[in-house]
Amino acid sequence: MKNYFRRRYTKAWQLAVASISRGLVDRKAGSELKDMREISCHGSEELNLPPCDGRMQSTKFKDSFICGPCECGDFEHTQLKNLSDEHYCKLDYPRVFCPKQMPGFSNFTPLTISENDMRKKLIQDTFGVEYLVELNHGKENSGGKEVE
Ligand code: SF4
Repeated sequence: MKNYFRRRYTKAWQLAVASISRGLVDRKAGSELKDMREISCHGSEELNLPPCDGRMQSTKFKDSFICGPCECGDFEHTQLKNLSDEHYCKLDYPRVFCPKQMPGFSNFTPLTISENDMRKKLIQDTFGVEYLVELNHGKENSGGKEVE
């Protein structure tokens, strides 16, 4: 029961942080940061990286996806893809969280020696931990920059 409330509290807090970072003027993550989130969620043909196994097909929006482990629901703002040029999707928030703490997300945590996440390892080996940490804490994720 205690864990249930802690989980609910964490989700509510993460949602609040994401919403505040968006602000009233639809601030967005920078393009480099968003590209990294797209690789984390959708994979990359170039890197031979499959999509995340937490990615689920949306039942409400054609050809779109949501994050299953997030339990954030199937809404317009939780889609992992832009539905149109004007659409604001989950990966656009300046600050947004990933249950797997993958690169590009605000809670990104480099792989530890005991973890066995081959997708995160491939991304880390390709881009370097230093770059990924810098990207995450750099000005593009300050919440004050609009996407160009
Ligand atoms: S777990 Fe993280 S990487 Fe996977 S779909 Fe969810 S947000 Fe994307």
